[in-house]
Amino acid sequence: MGDIEVPESHPRYQSLLTRHRIEAGVEKGITSKQGLIAEGRGEAFDYLLGERTLDSADEAERAAAAHLLLARHPVVSVNGNVAALCPAELVELAEATGADLEVNLFNRTEERVRAIADHLREHGAREVKGLAADERVPGLDHERAKVDADGIHDADVVLVPLEDGDRAEALGRMGKTELVVDLNPLSRSPRVAAVPIVDNVIRAIPNVTRYARDLRDAPREELEAIVEAFDREAALADAERAIREGGG
Ligand code: ATP
Ligand code: MG
Repeated sequence: MGDIEVPESHPRYQSLLTRHRIEAGVEKGITSKQGLIAEGRGEAFDYLLGERTLDSADEAERAAAAHLLLARHPVVSVNGNVAALCPAELVELAEATGADLEVNLFNRTEERVRAIADHLREHGAREVKGLAADERVPGLDHERAKVDADGIHDADVVLVPLEDGDRAEALGRMGKTELVVDLNPLSRSPRVAAVPIVDNVIRAIPNVTRYARDLRDAPREELEAIVEAFDREAALADAERAIREGGG
């Protein structure tokens, strides 16, 4: 990404930078071609949301941090888009919350799982799960169901950025608390989440980390109160309102 030439003064600087990261991810074997399409969708929704974090998304990010801190076994699921967009930020989030990082791909190939795990390690990850793939999520076809027995399969709380709807529903049926980052408030994945975070992952992930650091020493009761107070329906409705009213 170092050789891109987008002037910082460009009004859509951040969005162009994001696009370049995804392109570089495809070249590096991290992001799939379908990931390019997902990026396009994300850009369209981010544009409609004004390319900024709504107050309701900020609240969701705080609630997500509280969930991760309260969890017995939190896992951050990593796909080819988020690995390309914010690898170091994912590593920081995992460290701030004690979560595992697990590579979990919609279009799984062993090469891509390894490339993403290597990429995360290059960005400071010590342990990356998803290579064992020795368990299944019930109700999904074979390749899409693969998870680690001591990773997502065992987790009680899973942060899934850009998960597809089928898998989000299947994880929900397993009784997991899902924290979903997705710019489309109408997509099934955020609609089945305990905490739908309608925001760009490049803004959402560092903000969840910031809240996790703030709340690190908070008593459990305070974290539980944050989780209780969060209203998922209101968060989704606010994102829809923002899109209708244009940019915020
Ligand atoms: P389903 O109904 O199964 O969820 P879908 O239409 O959401 O299907 P996908 O292509 O898997 O299908 O969707 C990718 C999702 O990821 C889109 O909702 C898009 O808005 C979102 N997305 C893409 N890039 C980002 C990003 N950088 N940050 C947050 N969300 C993103
Ligand atoms: Mg979706």
